[in-house]
Amino acid sequence: MTSRMTHEFESGIPKLGFGMMRLPRVEGSDVIDIDQTCIMVDEFLSAGMKYIDTAFVYEGSEEAVRKALVDRHPRSDYLLATKLNAGMLCHDEESAKQQFYTSLERTGAGYFDFYLLHAISKNNIDKYNEYHIWDFVKELKEKGLVRNYGFSFHDSPEMLDQLLTEHPDVSFVQLQINYADWINPHVKSRDCYLVARKHNKPIVVMEPVKGGTLADPPEKVKELFDAYNPEVSYASWAIRFVASLDGILTVLSGMSNVAQMKDNLSYMRGFEPLTEEEVKVIQQAQEAIASVPQIACTACHYCTEGCPMNIDIPGIFRAYNEYLLYNDLEDAKGSYNFRTKNGGKASECIKCGACEQQCPQHLEIRDLLEQCASTFE
Ligand code: SF4
Ligand code: SF4
Repeated sequence: MTSRMTHEFESGIPKLGFGMMRLPRVEGSDVIDIDQTCIMVDEFLSAGMKYIDTAFVYEGSEEAVRKALVDRHPRSDYLLATKLNAGMLCHDEESAKQQFYTSLERTGAGYFDFYLLHAISKNNIDKYNEYHIWDFVKELKEKGLVRNYGFSFHDSPEMLDQLLTEHPDVSFVQLQINYADWINPHVKSRDCYLVARKHNKPIVVMEPVKGGTLADPPEKVKELFDAYNPEVSYASWAIRFVASLDGILTVLSGMSNVAQMKDNLSYMRGFEPLTEEEVKVIQQAQEAIASVPQIACTACHYCTEGCPMNIDIPGIFRAYNEYLLYNDLEDAKGSYNFRTKNGGKASECIKCGACEQQCPQHLEIRDLLEQCASTFE
């Protein structure tokens, strides 16, 4: 039996979702800035948006959801999504399932509109099966603690097809889609999108701006966008591209400050899909990006927690990609030094491989770090 979205969501959800993975921090600290988060939540809801996304493993995020959202707004004004991660921060079935109850307690939300098995890939799928998480979320739905369940996914289209065949009862999937990765051979975002469409599953999009990279795209891409319309932000092209695809439930933007929220709302409040001419500009941008080889890191940070040398792997890869795209070694070295000033350098990697077990993009992190070390050190 294929499960459908619950009735109240069938009429459509506003296309912009607030991803609470990268919330603003109090200056000079790692503490989430609740005052700024409150302003962002208020702006988001007053613009008519609804979908707010957090996760058990986003440190401090679920508590921030309670303070900025749940304690300050009627429950019917928003849709809340969170996630259970059977591959992280748990060691057995009980502690994996406990994540749900902890999320419920942290947020105080009473129930979740959308509940996800988090970041499924071939590296962690055995845990979800072994811990009976698929049955668990079904039971939560029967009890009314979860309105819809699905999963976020970071692997091949073939694996996605298999999962959706084995679990036709999921009512949505969350996929990584952006214009730069659309035809990227490492991410295959278009192929995954087509699989979800074949199974008739609504899609929540993550990483539409590719971890922030497309807010500041390569010079060739900027020129294309500026020539067409110098008034709009580069991030707006990225978000409107995915929001214009058929079958999209909402597009998560991981907003980190009020300015980003305002920018996102400026074009998503009265969302207009890309025109034919704009689609052509995006195609040219895709060609320009595809012509530069890069490390396909999305800055998800799943790799960093277990690194014994405290290496900021995505930060280092970002610096290296900046070098590949902009070809300015001095500038990229500055970026590398900044990103490694509080942690290990690329050359300090002891090649234990813990990071590669966690990487949803299946990057050969150890080899890539060696390359970065020889370029920057
Ligand atoms: S292989 Fe290197 S980068 Fe990866 S976890 Fe081990 S020390 Fe860290
Ligand atoms: S290297 Fe892999 S796991 Fe680490 S941030 Fe990049 S994509 Fe994520």
